[in-house]
Amino acid sequence: MALPLFDSLTPFMLEGGAVRGRVIRLGAVAQTILERHDYPPHVARLLSELLLAAGMLSANLKSEGIFTIQVRGQGLVPLVVVDAVYGGQLRGYADVQAESIAAINAVADYSPRALVGEGAYLAITLDSGEHRYQGIVALEGDSVADALTAYFVNSEQLDVQVQLALAHDGPWRAAGIMVERMPNEGQDVEAVAEAWRYAKAVSGTLSDSELLDPLLDTPALLYRLFHEQGVWVYDPQSFSVGCRCSRERILGILTGMKLEDRADMVVDGKVDVHCQFCNKSEIFSPEEIGLSAKN
Ligand SMILES: [Zn+2]
Repeated sequence: MALPLFDSLTPFMLEGGAVRGRVIRLGAVAQTILERHDYPPHVARLLSELLLAAGMLSANLKSEGIFTIQVRGQGLVPLVVVDAVYGGQLRGYADVQAESIAAINAVADYSPRALVGEGAYLAITLDSGEHRYQGIVALEGDSVADALTAYFVNSEQLDVQVQLALAHDGPWRAAGIMVERMPNEGQDVEAVAEAWRYAKAVSGTLSDSELLDPLLDTPALLYRLFHEQGVWVYDPQSFSVGCRCSRERILGILTGMKLEDRADMVVDGKVDVHCQFCNKSEIFSPEEIGLSAKN
């Protein structure tokens, strides 16, 4: 069942302007990305939380640009990567080797650090086309929400509170809320501090089941939470599943390579280029990539 209220991000601002926030909810988009690989449940959860994180960050893209989040370490899941493109295209995958699956399933409680292992970190890259900016934080705390909060506090000097929730009682649903204290510009310091305390306390009362409720639309959810203070709800931005691995693009990359490198890619008379995001192969003949058949 498609969830028409999901696959969107809704920005909001509390009355008074001291606190803003965003609610993200993913349904079919999360399901499509997760079902492309047969992930162990903990890995599916980690990937979904990172999709939420990338979706939340993508609200900051002002024009063409890509937010990429990578989680890397030396443990059972050495890499998870997700990205969000301006306009709402999301993609992502987790690197899971077959020999690690039993050990991943033996991890009792979900913990990103336990999965990603020694040296785990979270890197967030913004590539605007003209500029590339990267912030890195250790993957500390027990959740991606904690890591994301640490990223905002340490790299962006922003006060935020993040909550992420997941359900897999049918197709995947994933949702999150972030509240953020606005920079204090000439406002009454005590009033801003009070508004921030209120926003954190009230958003902390939101249950995972409310966040994930397919029958509760986001404006109604926000009104339920913040009706005492008053809340401005902005137009949502929608998400879709997207990848940049078109056959034409791959062909362009292949034919741009040196002849000897192209020849090295031929196995059993063909070139097989696999996209992990889509879990799909594009097969080319040697002739198609500018080699003669005998290569
Ligand atoms: Zn792809």
